[in-house]
Amino acid sequence: MLSVLPFEWTMRLSNRAKYPRITINKFAKVELVWPKHMPQKHVKPTLFRFEPWVRKRLAEFEPHQHQQNLPPQSITLPAIQQTWAMRYQHQAGLKPAMSENNDALVIAGDLQDGEAIRVALQGWLKAKAKLLLNPWLKDVALDMGAEFSAISIRLQKRRWGSCSSKKRISLNAALLFLSPELVRHVLIHELAHLKHMNHSAAFWREVAVFDPLYKQHRLALRHMGKDTPRWLHETFDTPPQLKEAPYETR
Ligand SMILES: [Zn+2]
Repeated sequence: MLSVLPFEWTMRLSNRAKYPRITINKFAKVELVWPKHMPQKHVKPTLFRFEPWVRKRLAEFEPHQHQQNLPPQSITLPAIQQTWAMRYQHQAGLKPAMSENNDALVIAGDLQDGEAIRVALQGWLKAKAKLLLNPWLKDVALDMGAEFSAISIRLQKRRWGSCSSKKRISLNAALLFLSPELVRHVLIHELAHLKHMNHSAAFWREVAVFDPLYKQHRLALRHMGKDTPRWLHETFDTPPQLKEAPYETR
């Protein structure tokens, strides 16, 4: 790494390349492809010559991240009012793995493997949901005098939660993207099913006791799907085609 440059870069030696060139992948990772036959004392001057071009490309890069389904730059979980910054560390040949580092989430591994990154993100979210929703559900159940037999955390596409006739409650890990009020509303709804396995008037009366604003919350829930990140259910977009700029060393 060359710290004086305003971006990080890696170098790959190539037998086939005739000229040095720079590529930028979808995670804004800069790679210098260096012909093996060329003396490496030219690497530094070459990078500095490339700098304006790389800066320009990287600047174009960022605004697009909002429209495209790309690995996130940060993750906010309104349910627990926490935000994590994402850090990506490229390690070729290594399956991406995720770890927490204070208020940052670090994904280290082969950053070309978008699907593995997505699986890592989903795994982290599910683990987080388990940690937070299990005790939360137990608390609300205690308030309601309701008893369930088991909890499972899933990542469903269309339901926030469900309750089986065997008193098993299943919760969607994406609940963490909702406000605490809406999460509580979903927990109350599912727990009320322990007494009424239907949506009868008696069921709604039970819900209303613990969530007087349930009608408002129910309505709000219907509009919440769009606030969950696309990576929950969709594979990442293919990297934008960035123009490579091969050039000659004079
Ligand atoms: Zn229901």
